[in-house]
Formats: sequence, C-alpha cells, structure tokens
Amino acid sequence: MKTIRNVADVSSWRLCLGCGACAYICPEKNVRIVDVIQDGLRPQLVDGNCKDCGSCLAVCPGIHTEHAAGSGEKKDEISRCWGTVLELWEGFSEDAEIRYYGSSAGLATAIGLYCIEKAGMQGVLHIGSNPDEPVRNRTFLSVDRAGLLGRTGSRYSPASPCDGLDMIEKASGPCVFIGKPCDVTGLRKAQTLREELNRRVGLAIGIFCAGTPSTQGTIDLLRKARIDPRDVAEMRYRGKGWPGMAEIRQINEDFPSFQMSYGESWGFLQQYRPFRCHLCPDGSSEFADISCGDPWYRKVENDEKGSSLVVVRTELGLKILHGAITEGYVNLKRVHNGLLEASQINLLWKRRSVWGRVLAMKAFGIPYPRLFGFHLFSNWLDGDMEFKARSVLGTVKRIVARKYYKPCRYGNASMNISEYSSEMTIKKG
Ligand SMILES: Cc1cc2nc3c(=O)[nH]c(=O)nc-3n(C[C@H](O)[C@H](O)[C@H](O)COP(=O)(O)OP(=O)(O)OC[C@H]3O[C@@H](n4cnc5c(N)ncnc54)[C@H](O)[C@@H]3O)c2cc1C
Repeated sequence: MKTIRNVADVSSWRLCLGCGACAYICPEKNVRIVDVIQDGLRPQLVDGNCKDCGSCLAVCPGIHTEHAAGSGEKKDEISRCWGTVLELWEGFSEDAEIRYYGSSAGLATAIGLYCIEKAGMQGVLHIGSNPDEPVRNRTFLSVDRAGLLGRTGSRYSPASPCDGLDMIEKASGPCVFIGKPCDVTGLRKAQTLREELNRRVGLAIGIFCAGTPSTQGTIDLLRKARIDPRDVAEMRYRGKGWPGMAEIRQINEDFPSFQMSYGESWGFLQQYRPFRCHLCPDGSSEFADISCGDPWYRKVENDEKGSSLVVVRTELGLKILHGAITEGYVNLKRVHNGLLEASQINLLWKRRSVWGRVLAMKAFGIPYPRLFGFHLFSNWLDGDMEFKARSVLGTVKRIVARKYYKPCRYGNASMNISEYSSEMTIKKG
C-alpha cells in the first residue's frame, strides 16, 4: 500500500474527514486548515514544512478509528450497529427559544447550557457561522446562553471544531465539546495525547451525521436561489421549527429572504458529500458521552415543535443528562432502543456498506481507513447479495471513473469564495 507520511498525504488520498485535530496537535504549528471548495476543510503543510514527528497521524480519525477493547466489542445487537447505548431518550429543550432555533429540538445546546450554568463548566466549544463570511463556519467557545443560542442548528457545510481545542486547553475549568462523529473521534485521540486537554474536557456531545457536504454544495444551493455568496448576511440550513427550513438572508434588505424546505435542501446538498464520508461507519457519534439526532421514526406533523433522540453512552453522560432533567433544562421520556434503527435506517445501511467499500480500496492497493470495533464484516453480511455486490463494485466504479487510484493534488485550488463566485453568472434579486 502507498505510504502515508503526514496529513498532506491523508488529504491527497481523500481520507481526511476535516475535523481539524491535526492543526491543533502539530507541535510546530505547521498545519493549516483550508477550505477546498469541492471537497471540504483539509490540512495543508505551511510551506511544505513537516518534521515527521507523526503527531498529526496519531490524532487523525480519517486513517484510523478504533473502539477501546471492551466497549465496541460487546456483541449485543444494538452495540453491533450503534456502539454503546446505555439509555435512549426522546424529548426537547425546555427553553422554548433554544427548542425553536435548534436543529431538531435544541437538546445539544440545552445540555451545553446546563453544563455551564449548573455543572461548573466554563464554556462550550462548537462551530457556528463565521460573521466575516456567513456561508462558512468557524470554531467558537460559547460561554453563555446568547453565544449558544446564536450557534444552534445544523450547518450542512464543512466545519472543523477540533481546530479550536487549544481554547479548551487554555480554559480555566472544564468545557463541553460539540461536534460530528469524526470531530468527537479527533477530540478523543487528542485527549490521549495531551494531558492538559484531557483535564479540561468536561463532556463530549456528538450529533448524528450522514456526511458533510462541501462548500461547493452551499455555493450551488445559492446559485439555485440566484444569490451571490458575497451578498449573504445569514445562512441557516435548518432550525426555526422542526425540521425547519434552509433560509438565506441577504445583506441588501430590499431583497427578500430565500427559503427552501429541509427535504429539498438536504436532498440537494447530500450529493456533495466527499468520498471519505461514504467510508464512515459511525453515524451516531459512538465516542461521545451523549449524542443527539432526529427521531425520524415517525412522520413530522405540520407546525410540530421540535423533538430529538438522545443516546447516553457513558456514565458521565448519564450523570449530566439526569442532572439536566432534574434541573428542568430538558424534557425527556425514555424510549425503546429499537427506535434508533427505526429513526436512522440510512445510517445503518451506510455502516453495512463500509466493509465492501474498503475491500474495493484494498484491491486497488490505495490507502484505506483502518476501522476496528465496528463489526463491519458482520454488518456487511446483513445485506443481500445485490447490496454486497453493489458496495464493492460501486466503489470500484467510482475509483476508476474519478481516478481515485491516484492521489489528488489540491495545489493552488481556489479557496476564496469571492474569486470563485466571480466565475458565476448570477442575476441578483
Ligand atoms: C453534516 C450533518 C449531517 C447530519 N446528518 C444527520 C443524520 O443523518 N441523522 C440525524 O438524525 N441527524 C443528522 N444531523 C444532526 C442533526 O441535524 C442535529 O444536529 C441533531 O439532531 C441535534 O439537534 P439539536 O437540536 O439537539 O442541536 P442544536 O441544539 O441545534 O445544536 C447543534 C450543534 O451542532 C453543532 N454543529 C452544527 N453543524 C455542525 C457541523 N457541520 N459540524 C460540527 N458541529 C456542528 C452546532 O455548533 C451546535 O452546537 C446532521 C448534522 C450535520 C451537521
């Protein structure tokens, strides 16, 4: 197999998940994260400098993810498909505004707020829209309700919360981390390498994730709406009700806001998920203490207020969630574990396909992710013959058609939305 020497190789072999942990961990600060518009946030070596210390590879969830012996090894049906599930709950934030602006019911935010106000934590590290460029994201340490409320809602575009882990490390007390499954894995790996960080991580909340669309997806969504990215004042992907609408507000207030249903916008954006996201078996943040997703097992009625599924995965998660219930931050009821599969069948089918997809990569001798403790082979066996053949042959086809047997060179790919958008022929208004 071709050799991976550093994160530049991880990126060029399309294995990067964009969590940003490599930028945090590099002792020389030689890694910077850039937005490769057609792919995602990806690491580049500053002036090609690298001292080959291996820290960036040690922290990278893109090349290796493993359940600690004992945790992912349990053979019960639920953990074979979803990792450890101590308890499953459904409900919402008791704070009506957080519930309204939140993605599904604002539970990730409400639990974060409880941690700050009642559990002695200093802040929540998570991502939100970048005020300087609202179609892109940035990492923030939110320290109060206003900060948290302003960063509610899923952003179906690249985000690297681990690039801000030094904010947790330097905080005066423990902090909460919120991120996607790959972000939480990057955090966990970084915690094992940096004791200063480990001491400051008070709780990890994961959100479910089917894959992150590239910035190209957002640009093309704006193109559909006939809006130039430079004219965007605010871009929301969902929230404001459940599942909420994608909503784009323009700088010039004379132009009306543009709205698109969740089904239409996610249906469009999901086509822009990069190759590596299709190799990810962890859709439900198995390495988090608590993870949150949508209870899609039932039809959402018109004007229904939000609702979220909450998976408790660790003893710490249990303690925090029960505290948040007692203190009235969240309103939850226990539900049957079977609702996880009923709600997230697409995530389960993705997990089932990973073994076949990786097999195709091995056949080409190209670098592939090392994934342990996810029971990938037995999950793959759950599919029928046609499914199994498709998982392998579909990937072979993709590798050949898109030349994935060669590393890609991002080179001087334009990272600047302003330059990029000038190539478009958009009529405003
Ligand atoms: C790319 C993507 C794909 C998803 N796929 C699924 C899916 O297949 N099934 C499912 O049930 N749910 C999925 N979700 C999660 C879902 O949309 C909700 O985030 C989840 O239900 C939690 O809702 P909430 O109301 O509790 O979160 P909120 O209280 O609104 O908080 C959301 C938190 O997520 C953080 N966040 C938002 N976008 C990102 C991002 N791109 N990267 C890292 N952190 C982010 C915010 O900073 C905020 O702290 C996805 C989310 C994303 C971003």
